Parts: sequence; C-alpha cells; structure tokens
Amino acid sequence: MGFLNNFYAVRKHSLAFFEKAYYDFSMVYKAKEDRYETMKYRRCGKSGIQLPEISLGLWHNFGGADCLETGRETVLAAFDAGITHFDLANNYGPPAGSAEITFGRILKENLSPYRDELIISTKAGYDMWPGPYGEWGSRKYLFASLHASLKRMGLDYVDIFYSHRPDPDTPFEETMGALADIVHQGKALYAGISNYDARQSAEAISILRSLGVPCLIHQASYSMLNRWTEDAAFENKSLLDILEKESAGCICFSPLAQGLLTGRYLDGTIPEGSRASRNVFLKPSSLTPELLKKLNALNDIAKEGGRTLPAMAIQWILRDKRNTSVLIGASSVGQLKENLKALSYPPLSQEELKRIEAVL
Ligand code: NDP
Repeated sequence: MGFLNNFYAVRKHSLAFFEKAYYDFSMVYKAKEDRYETMKYRRCGKSGIQLPEISLGLWHNFGGADCLETGRETVLAAFDAGITHFDLANNYGPPAGSAEITFGRILKENLSPYRDELIISTKAGYDMWPGPYGEWGSRKYLFASLHASLKRMGLDYVDIFYSHRPDPDTPFEETMGALADIVHQGKALYAGISNYDARQSAEAISILRSLGVPCLIHQASYSMLNRWTEDAAFENKSLLDILEKESAGCICFSPLAQGLLTGRYLDGTIPEGSRASRNVFLKPSSLTPELLKKLNALNDIAKEGGRTLPAMAIQWILRDKRNTSVLIGASSVGQLKENLKALSYPPLSQEELKRIEAVL
C-alpha cells in the first residue's frame, strides 16, 4: 500500500511538472499590451468583421523549406503590431501544406491564448493531391481539403474559407453550395472567393446569398502595377463596384507586386535570396528598362514625401475605402516593420496622387 501511495504521489508530481513545463513553454510569448493602439481596422463590406488595414499572408517564407524561427518572429511581430488576420491556403509551402503546419505550430506554441483575437483564413482550389478530386471546385475536393487544413493547423474551425479560383467545369451552384454548407456546419465562420472575375463574382455572390450565406470577401490581386479590379468589366461595373453593391469586402494580394514595389530591385540587379532570384513566381525578365524607370520615378515621389516606396504602395491601395485590407508578404521582421510604416505616414496628398497617376 505504501508503495502504491508513493507511486501515485510521484506520478501526480511528474504530471504537475509536465503541465507546468508546457504552460511555461506556451506562455514564453506574451503579446504586447499596446498591440491595438496603432493599427487601424476597416469593416469588411457590411459584415460584423473588421480587418486590419494590413494583413499578413503566408504564401512564401513559411514552408517546410524556410526557417521556422524567422516565420515565428514575423508572425509574432505582426500580431504585436495589431495584425489580427493571417492568410493561408492548402497549397502554401513548399512543400504544399507545410505553411499550414508551420502556422499550426506557432498557434499551438505561442498564440493559443489568443485564438479569439485572430482571423485565420485558408483556401482550396489549386493542385493538392493526385487524381480528379485534388484540385478545382468540386464539393468532394473542398470538404476533403478543408478537413486536411484544419488538421494541419490544429484548428476546429477557420474564420474564412475561400474558393481559391473559379472552376470552369464545375457548376458554381456546387462550389458555392459546398462553401455554404461548410459555413452552416461551423467549419468556417465566413465564405470568400478569390480570383473570380467581375461577372463570375456577381454570379457566385448571388448563389451564396440564395443559400443564406453572404460572401464576406473577395481576395484579388491589386497594386500600383496591376489595377484590374478598377476596370469596368461586367455590365459597365468593375469588380470593386460589384463588391460594394453586394456589401462584400476586398482584400488585395501581392500589393507590392511580389517585391517590385520596394527598394529590392531599383538598380536592376537581383539580390541573392530575393523572390526574383528563385525565378518561379517572379521572373528576372519582368525587370524591363521601362518598369525600372517607372519604379524609380515612384521611389522619387515616395522619397520627396518622406516615405518609403513599399509604404507608399500600401497607402496608395488604402486610398480607396472599398479595399478593406492590404495583404502583404514579408521574408523578415525588418520588411514587415518597413511596410507597417504605411500606417504612421500622413495620407497621400492630392498632389502626390496626381504625380503617381501620371507615372502609372
Ligand atoms: P507582396 O507583394 O507584399 O510581396 C511580398 C514579398 O516582397 C516578400 O516576400 C519579399 O520578398 C518582398 N518584400 C516585402 N516587403 C519588402 C520590403 N519592405 N523590402 C524589400 N522587399 C520586400 O505580397 P505576396 O505576393 O507575397 O502576397 C501576399 C499574400 O497574398 C500571400 O502570402 C497570400 O496570402 C496572398 N496571395 C493570394 C493569392 C491568391 O491567389 N489568392 C496569390 C498570391 C498571394 P523577398 O524578400 O523574398 O524578395
């Protein structure tokens, strides 16, 4: 009996020890108390959700091939600066899926006490596994992909689930029906679409509404070098006109044109380790003499206004209130901090906007 008592006492003690060790480890990170003081938030369409003017995307720099600690520092520095929205997709890595694993680990080890302060999104649409059910927009693929994303991130639900691209061969009724059911089942709180053109967006949003699920947001590429969301494209309306009419928000991806709208390439050389040096998503051949001239002219305007080029590029997007959030990428805390300066500079003047327009 004495032996048994001793055994239970030791076991209880060790459990308490492990619980404490785990608690200490997960509490090593304590978010800054003043994290909500400088960030500004914009309402997403006419929903109940407000998003930070700058959000962080994990497309690059957070994969299994990248440095976990740099990723962790960047996510935590972002949260400390009031960035509450982190954007993922099933295929982010490389390898595909690994950015969700990295983010799940940061969530578990550092951010678990803050889950209710976070808007976490993921998407399905691109190639994930072999065979006919591993990409595009079928109900089969969307459900299987979301289940796998939740598992990788260790989550019960995501805040936003997106159809990552329109599927030309699956009826929108099926894709939107799957999104609506996912929301009804509580596996995602909101539905979004990405890379749908103006006409496709109008159709998808209307189907979602008929199923009792408003489209919260469209995730679209947009920057000073890529202004398609402004173009009158469907019934004389631009994508931004349609989203405004439908009370949906817009989050702008690749706002720095993958790094072109920063100081990285202004002299025409390709720094080692930069995205262009990897020659996959950003090609060195895109750095034409005309583009370099444009980038340097924009940089001159930024400098004269006492700004940096990336901060000015972000401020330029935020000039339009219909753009809810600017979804940046960053490969270091230094880049993140430089981009966050956009929030502390005075807004762009009419004169500056005119000069930028003339360059574009
Ligand atoms: P950006 O245009 O912000 O490009 C980010 C890259 O630019 C960084 O990784 C870094 O590249 C470089 N950079 C950023 N800031 C600076 C700086 N201050 N100085 C120098 N270089 C800098 O956005 P992304 O193209 O990365 O896209 C952002 C997010 O948008 C993604 O993570 C994803 O969440 C989303 N997205 C969605 C898509 C969709 O289809 N829905 C498609 C693409 C993106 P480096 O240091 O490596 O040169």
